[in-house]
Amino acid sequence: MDQVLIDFLQQTGTPATFFLNFRWLQANPGPAKALAQNPLFEIGNHGTRHRPLSVSGRGAYGIPGTASPAEVYDEVMVNEDALRSLTGKPSRYFRSGTAYLDDVAVRIVRALGLVPVSFSINGDGGATFPAAVVFREVAAARTRDIVIAHANHPTAGTADGVARALPALSSAGITPVPLPST
Ligand SMILES: [Zn+2]
Repeated sequence: MDQVLIDFLQQTGTPATFFLNFRWLQANPGPAKALAQNPLFEIGNHGTRHRPLSVSGRGAYGIPGTASPAEVYDEVMVNEDALRSLTGKPSRYFRSGTAYLDDVAVRIVRALGLVPVSFSINGDGGATFPAAVVFREVAAARTRDIVIAHANHPTAGTADGVARALPALSSAGITPVPLPST
């Protein structure tokens, strides 16, 4: 857990949705509970086995996708059950591992009461960008952009880059807001 990033979001009152994967949740029950209890933050569903979401096994980035509607269901709902135990309520949003979903999987996610969501700005390149690049990418956000970044790689450039980008956004008249109601 990148506590520097989380503390910075807290200190600046910056809302964020944390998309938790089932494996991370099992390994980090304490940090997960702290996030869930923080009114500034929302918890989203990031899948059970972190798979691309497909009914045909189509994958992305070398990771095989789920291969049937039943596997899509399990990818969403095993984690969703754990998240509901954590937060006491249904998740609003689902984000698949690798961000890939096929059209049928999208319909299944919606039928399960969740909204599939992706991003428009890749803020930290999967926690690979140095802080200067994170700054440049995040500071370029404008109205209705969705910025993705990672809070589970504390040695990455993410926290420094975000910390520098938020004042720049503020100067540009941009105020981060939670994902909208659906
Ligand atoms: Zn992920």
